[in-house]
Amino acid sequence: MGKLLLMIFLGVAIWWLWRKLQATKADAALPKAERPPELMARCAHCGVNQPRSECVEGAGQAVYCSDAHRREAESGSAGE
Ligand SMILES: [Zn+2]
Repeated sequence: MGKLLLMIFLGVAIWWLWRKLQATKADAALPKAERPPELMARCAHCGVNQPRSECVEGAGQAVYCSDAHRREAESGSAGE
C-alpha cells in the first residue's frame, strides 16, 4: 500500500512540476510583436490617410501624401 501511495505522490509531483515548467515556458515565449502602432496622417490636399513616415511635411502643421500634393496645395490655397 505504501508503494502505491508513493507512486501517486510521485505522479502528482511530476505533473505539478511539468505544469510549472509549461507556465514558465509560456512566459518566456511572450509575443515580441509589441510594436508601437504607426502614426497615420491625413493628406491636407486629397485627404488620404497614410503612415506619418511616408508623408511630406508642408508649411505649418500640414502634411501631404506626396510632394506633388504639397506643391499643389501650397500654390493653390493662397487665394482661398
Ligand atoms: Zn494627397
